Amino acid sequence: MERKCIALVAHDARKRDLITWIGAHLRSLSGHIFYATGTTGGRVKEAFPDLDVTPLKSGPLGGDQQIGAMIAEGRVDLLVFFVDPMTAQPHDVDVKALTRLATLYNVPFACNEATADMVVSSPLFTDSYRPRPVDFRSYEGRQL
Ligand code: PGA
Repeated sequence: MERKCIALVAHDARKRDLITWIGAHLRSLSGHIFYATGTTGGRVKEAFPDLDVTPLKSGPLGGDQQIGAMIAEGRVDLLVFFVDPMTAQPHDVDVKALTRLATLYNVPFACNEATADMVVSSPLFTDSYRPRPVDFRSYEGRQL
């Protein structure tokens, strides 16, 4: 099995849902490599000590930006980000930047449980699928 690098983020009101989701898909998720924003990563490690989880900084302290940087470096295969759409976030701009980079780099991005269910149940999740790399040559070569 090819180990995928999966980034995990959950807003506070969604952290329990993320833990439940991981538990429901533990067989599919075991063996992959996880990076997570700090508090989310701590919860995941606590609940699933056998998963290979690296916690980064807490989201509001730069963790979302760290995951964004990993995406820009081509190091993330999947972003699972359980978003709380009902609560204002102090780091809203960071959240927006992270979701923008996932979109820009064509990284699969599940922002809720139903999407995450579909992603891990897809045959593409278990094979060596690689999303088409985005071609930035025309942007980089633009005449100024
Ligand atoms: P946290 O960050 O895992 O450190 O709580 C999540 C977020 O970006 O809100």
